[in-house]
Parts: sequence; C-alpha cells; structure tokens
Amino acid sequence: MSRQTLNIAHLYPDLLNLYADRGNILTLVQRLRWRGIDVNLHQVTHHDTLRLTAYDLVLLGGGSDREQELVAKYLSRYQRDFKHAIASGLPLLAICGGYQLLGAYYQMPSGEKIAGLDVLDMYTSAGTGLSRLIGNVAIETEEYGVIMGFENHGGRTVHHHAPLGKVLHGHGNNGESGFEGVHHQNVWGTYIHGPLLPKNPQFADAILSTALAYAGQSTPLDPLDDDVEQAARLAFLQRRMPDVDT
Ligand code: GLN
Repeated sequence: MSRQTLNIAHLYPDLLNLYADRGNILTLVQRLRWRGIDVNLHQVTHHDTLRLTAYDLVLLGGGSDREQELVAKYLSRYQRDFKHAIASGLPLLAICGGYQLLGAYYQMPSGEKIAGLDVLDMYTSAGTGLSRLIGNVAIETEEYGVIMGFENHGGRTVHHHAPLGKVLHGHGNNGESGFEGVHHQNVWGTYIHGPLLPKNPQFADAILSTALAYAGQSTPLDPLDDDVEQAARLAFLQRRMPDVDT
C-alpha cells in the first residue's frame, strides 16, 4: 500500500494564534508522524489564495477582536467555497475567535458587528458591560469523553446545532446554556484553548480519523502510548478543577 498523506491547512497563523493554538497543529502533525503517516502542513496567510479543495483538514485559531475583524474580511471572499466544502464533509476545527467567525456575526462590545462566514446557524454577541468568561473549563462529550482546557472570551454564542459537550466546569458557549462548542457535520467549534489538542489526545485522534476518511484513506489509527498525556489531564483536573469527577 502507498504511504498515507494528509494535507492540513492552518489558516491565518499570522493573525489567529491566541493562547498557543499552534500547539493544536503540532499535536496533529506529531500524532500522524508517530504512526508513519506523512503530513503536508500548509500555513495559509492572508497573502495567499485559499484553495479549500486542496486540504483534508482545516484549522482556524483564536484571536483578538482586531485580528478577527481583519480575518473576517479575508474569509468573506471564500464564503461559497466554505459552504460547499463543509457540505461535502471537509473537517474543520475552529477555536474561539475562529469559532465565532463560523456564525452569522460577532458583535463586539462597541456594538459593531463583524460579519462571519455564516456556515452555521449561529451568532455571537459580546454585549456592553458584560464581563469576560475566563478560566479553566471541562466538558462532557458523548464521543470523546471529557475535554478540558482554558477559555477567555467576551462573546456569548447562541446556536441550535448539537453542542460539542455539556459544561462540567467553566462557562462554555454563553455562561447560561450549560453547553460548550458545536459539532455539525465535520465541523467542530469550541472556546477551548490552552491549547486544546495536547490535553485531549482522544479528540485529536477522532479529528485525524475523520480527516483520513475524508481523504479516502480510512484505516484504523494505531494506538499510541498516551500515558504522559493522561497523567497531565489527571493532574490538571485534580489541581484546577477538583469538582469534576475523574
Ligand atoms: N475576540 C473574541 C472574544 O473575546 C475571541 C477571543 C479569543 O479568541 N480568545 O469573544
């Protein structure tokens, strides 16, 4: 059998890389390499033309309002491409500011609205005079067990898709619904930084399996020794979120 290769696009790494979101890319690439799977990592900056059909997995990180406004402008050129790619099953992971940009709009504390890609039935508003939602976060998910990390966002997100998980500790989408993130088709959106994937290897592998299937290279992923990651997860929960059952 010829070697497996995955094409991963990291969108706008020059503008969206808050709280070490780049660690998500390192995790995905390394977990593929450990399994002997080749990776082409494409860092797509705002100078580049985005060809979504060239990728098997796309990542959009978090950013401040200023960066988000710039990225929204660049992304708007590709709205139709995103709609089409997502409908055909393109795996896409979007974190915080990137997550907000998947909806109709993100309304900043000033009241000004940044138009999003509108690929999900969703909107986000930061409101005026509202506090930011900051701290460690843990969520219960049906497919990937407990996912944990850190959140820091002013925006409150409302949508009617399936959430990524139920909040066990922290704020989640809006501090009220008890839900965090979104999972629609092969799109995952979440407020969890920290970065997300080194702490949640089971989620990283689920994303990689989806991407390999999308690339037509569906084979079960070889198990890896995740003892270090599991010990780090346990220590993080015990020290930072002792109220969460382990
Ligand atoms: N600017 C957005 C907010 O504060 C996103 C921040 C982020 O990506 N951490 O809601």
